[in-house]
Amino acid sequence: MSIKYDVIIVGGGHNALICANVLAKKNKKVLICEARETCGGLLTNDLTNFTPSFSNKVKSEIDNISVDHSSVSTIALSETGHHLKLTGNIYEDKKTLEQLAPEDVDRYFKLQKKLSLFSKTLGSFMHSSPPRILHKSFSDYFKLFKLGLNVRLMGRNSFNEFARMIGLNIADELEDNFKNTLLQGLISHDAITGSNLGPRSPGSLINLLFRMANHDNSLFGGIQQVKGGVNAVMKSLEENVIKRGVEIKTSSSVKRCIIENDQVKGIELDDGTSIHANTVISSADPKSTYLCLLGAEHLDTDFKRRIKHYRAKGRVSKLQLVLSKIPQFTNLESKDLSQRLVISPSIDYIEENFNYSKFENLSPEPILELSVPSVEDELLCHNGNHIMNVQIQYAPFNVKGGWENKKAECINNVLTTLEKYAPEIRSCILEQEFISPNDIEKNFNVSGGHWHHGEIQIDQLFMLRPIPGAAQYKTPVSGLYMCGAGTHPGGGMTGIPGKNAAHEVLKNI
Ligand SMILES: Cc1cc2nc3c(=O)[nH]c(=O)nc-3n(C[C@H](O)[C@H](O)[C@H](O)COP(=O)(O)OP(=O)(O)OC[C@H]3O[C@@H](n4cnc5c(N)ncnc54)[C@H](O)[C@@H]3O)c2cc1C
Repeated sequence: MSIKYDVIIVGGGHNALICANVLAKKNKKVLICEARETCGGLLTNDLTNFTPSFSNKVKSEIDNISVDHSSVSTIALSETGHHLKLTGNIYEDKKTLEQLAPEDVDRYFKLQKKLSLFSKTLGSFMHSSPPRILHKSFSDYFKLFKLGLNVRLMGRNSFNEFARMIGLNIADELEDNFKNTLLQGLISHDAITGSNLGPRSPGSLINLLFRMANHDNSLFGGIQQVKGGVNAVMKSLEENVIKRGVEIKTSSSVKRCIIENDQVKGIELDDGTSIHANTVISSADPKSTYLCLLGAEHLDTDFKRRIKHYRAKGRVSKLQLVLSKIPQFTNLESKDLSQRLVISPSIDYIEENFNYSKFENLSPEPILELSVPSVEDELLCHNGNHIMNVQIQYAPFNVKGGWENKKAECINNVLTTLEKYAPEIRSCILEQEFISPNDIEKNFNVSGGHWHHGEIQIDQLFMLRPIPGAAQYKTPVSGLYMCGAGTHPGGGMTGIPGKNAAHEVLKNI
């Protein structure tokens, strides 16, 4: 059998494209097989609202991509019309808080400074492969030492505070320090977005730190909107890898990896075609990679158990509304509708929503993040009409009664909630499309439909992501690697897993 490719990458999400780019720059012959008709994975205009921008370390690895970004503010909507707009700019935010939450101003900036230091420290570990625990090599010891040193270098007080807070829930921290419930609700919202935690769940703080590490270490800064939507970034990444000689096969679902004597030898597509390479990198999520592409027969019992227990049930749904006109929101200018609007007015509101979802029920008053990006970017209009993107937090993966029967109820709950802020919303709707976590699993080939291909929690992070023993982009099978959001450091449009994985692979081929 002739081996034509050095590397085959399963899936064509942004991490796969970035991984392919790094490998192709080192003259490796790479093939990407993507199951869907287009590359981009979960990062499409159908799902994604706002993104971080690629860090300099990722940008330096990919060719210049010609994409315009604009910074986005976050606006916590209030039923009373006293909306809270935070930009990440210290002077603007101070002015806003002095007006709306005067008692919280100093504490807000204190918290921002403290969390920023923690997220910077955690972020400093993101750009390399995590060390292997108990693997007595010099480089692993050195990485562990550096990790400990960076944490220690925060200074004794900060270190103690970090140790106190790391397993803490976000609600305790906010309730101890802030009076304004809207501000509490907004910060808590960003601590639980995309996760399976409530604001009172231990560990919700680490989710917030992870988010901040990807957003310029700021609570509400570093949030971007891409001109033309995220599809424009994906198109640009795709064009670049093609220029570098990477081949892309779309509509090519990979059925399994071909394994001979514990060494990967290539892949087999759903249509029976076999393609050979001694290195295969999966950008699919961990459960799909191990249980479907590799197959449980290649895993030992303990490994199988860990992968089966890997937590990856998605809790975010998406509703897209095509609007006949821009709806009027109480006390909001229409240009603000292109910003990030959040309906999450208090910690209790979030916790109640979490309780509904825990028991696989729908909340009558869901937590929403929405925007009408086409207000500022006509490229995002649909047949000349504006689109409203709404993300619904805590939409359970399995809902009691089944999603097919519950979609209409969920949409109605969203619109009833929206009406409190935009009374005429229903009369503006021309078309609507709803995507549940279940649909995300089916349509985007992500087991569980999870935002990060798996929870961002302390036992599924760093050298434990996705599971101990397979956290360095490697798998137990020689030549088989992973590069998607289920690997260190996790999901969102960062490209870091793809970049790190490529470097790990390059050490071995
Ligand atoms: C509802 C929702 C909203 C989100 N919103 C945001 C947001 O606003 N901002 C943000 O930054 N992030 C957001 N995210 C997270 C972000 O989209 C993901 O973390 C990111 O896309 C992961 O990138 P990836 O390349 O690792 O994987 P993916 O984007 O999932 O790509 C993996 C690719 O592999 C393909 N694949 C899987 N199995 C196979 C197979 N057997 N054969 C061939 N191909 C296969 C899939 O089709 C897919 O294209 C959101 C996620 C969700 C679910």
